[in-house]
Amino acid sequence: MSETVIVVGGGLAGMSAAARLAHNGYKVTLLEKAPKLGGRAITIPLKGFNFNFGAHAIYARDKSVLRKFESEIGLKVDWKNFSPSKAFYDMGSFTTPMPATLAGLYQTKVIDAENKVRFAYEVIKTMSSLERGEEGVLIGDYLQKESDPVRDLLLTVASSNFFTNEPEKIPSPLFFQYYKRLFASTRAVSYIGGGWSSIVEGFADIITKNEGNIITKEKISEVELDEQNKVVSIKGKNDSYQADHFIFCIPPKECLQLFAETPLATYFEEYTKFVPTQVVVYDIGLSERIRSPFTYVYQKSERVFITDISYYDESCVPEGGQLMQAIAYLNEQEVIEKKADEKIATIETVYDKHFPGWRDLLVAKRVSKKAIVQEIKCIDDQQLMPTKFYSMPNAYFAGDWCRGEGQLSELSFSSAYQVTSRIMKHPVEVH
Ligand SMILES: Cc1cc2nc3c(=O)[nH]c(=O)nc-3n(C[C@H](O)[C@H](O)[C@H](O)COP(=O)(O)OP(=O)(O)OC[C@H]3O[C@@H](n4cnc5c(N)ncnc54)[C@H](O)[C@@H]3O)c2cc1C
Repeated sequence: MSETVIVVGGGLAGMSAAARLAHNGYKVTLLEKAPKLGGRAITIPLKGFNFNFGAHAIYARDKSVLRKFESEIGLKVDWKNFSPSKAFYDMGSFTTPMPATLAGLYQTKVIDAENKVRFAYEVIKTMSSLERGEEGVLIGDYLQKESDPVRDLLLTVASSNFFTNEPEKIPSPLFFQYYKRLFASTRAVSYIGGGWSSIVEGFADIITKNEGNIITKEKISEVELDEQNKVVSIKGKNDSYQADHFIFCIPPKECLQLFAETPLATYFEEYTKFVPTQVVVYDIGLSERIRSPFTYVYQKSERVFITDISYYDESCVPEGGQLMQAIAYLNEQEVIEKKADEKIATIETVYDKHFPGWRDLLVAKRVSKKAIVQEIKCIDDQQLMPTKFYSMPNAYFAGDWCRGEGQLSELSFSSAYQVTSRIMKHPVEVH
């Protein structure tokens, strides 16, 4: 008899965990509260355009856990390579190549020749673990020993990878751990042909082909534990579900609600207090392409970036069209002060500057004033949730609020990979 597993939550973490276990012979049921699978990685069709609601790029693809899902369980990913030669920084009075490669570092005017050498040395020290940061010291303070231009450039780079306008608050060990991996990557940024829905559909196919069961519109609201704190069953709207193992791929706030009537509720409380990474998203679909030297432009002072998604993935536009995604970061104070409308106006000025004429060609747009990029933001003393608690023998947790590798969706994939390895009793590298 195969062991049974219930996965709660059909985002990237839940879908990848369920697919890996189903492929390996487990009897899997996945329960998702929404009518559609994908969570924050959904693709929304609008007037002939396919807007990615959330995720758009994969960072350090050659090191990504997605590669393991490709080779181990047959997930198909149509990788689209980022063009570093088309990535620019807008410094206000001038625009200059982004130092994403050695060629970019050579050409960029962000820093002068002397600081380029210092920056390159910092990259080498990070890759060879000579720089590891220091527990209890934020990267902004740790980098005080660097020259101002090098410190500023490292923080600018971190701003775009961590989707934050307060990069100086990233813990220094996390910063160096992240960049040791990213600087060693030969594919620092990649996009996905067919949008993120193609990955979600790919996981769904693997689940159903392996006799897994996917149930949507099923919100889980309660868990029942035995005396050893083993989960015995979970309750949805109409049914209750039993299994040998339970993987909860739902945010800490949802976990707290599920476990509210149990003695374990307190375990989740701490994680519900942390703030998420929030952004303003402003995507536009145009009837015609606007000629431009950029496929990616980062407006440094306002911390806004624009990506020409359709340059990489033609399937997201009607013939001849163009789809661009703009993102502006929000810090906690800006969220409290409801600054999203100001960010929208700023994004429009950045579109005006680099893609003049966009207003006349506009067919469809999608604005999200409070999109959650990562449920727990990795700054200050905020902590990611463990994937397993010692006192819960058959409950596991995964998602971008859990401990894993990288940031953003890489946390979802790597935590899902970690918990499925535990269930399959494979060796696990715990972070
Ligand atoms: C604008 C934006 C841009 C982004 N850009 C990038 C990027 O470039 N690169 C990158 O890697 N990542 C990016 N991300 C992040 C990425 O989208 C997320 O990290 C990832 O999709 C999170 O997946 P998850 O499964 O961990 O969580 P979620 O997607 O939040 O999934 C949780 C699921 O659980 C379901 N659920 C919740 N409660 C219950 C319940 N009680 N019962 C049943 N189901 C329940 C929810 O409906 C949801 O489907 C971006 C996100 C946004 C918003």
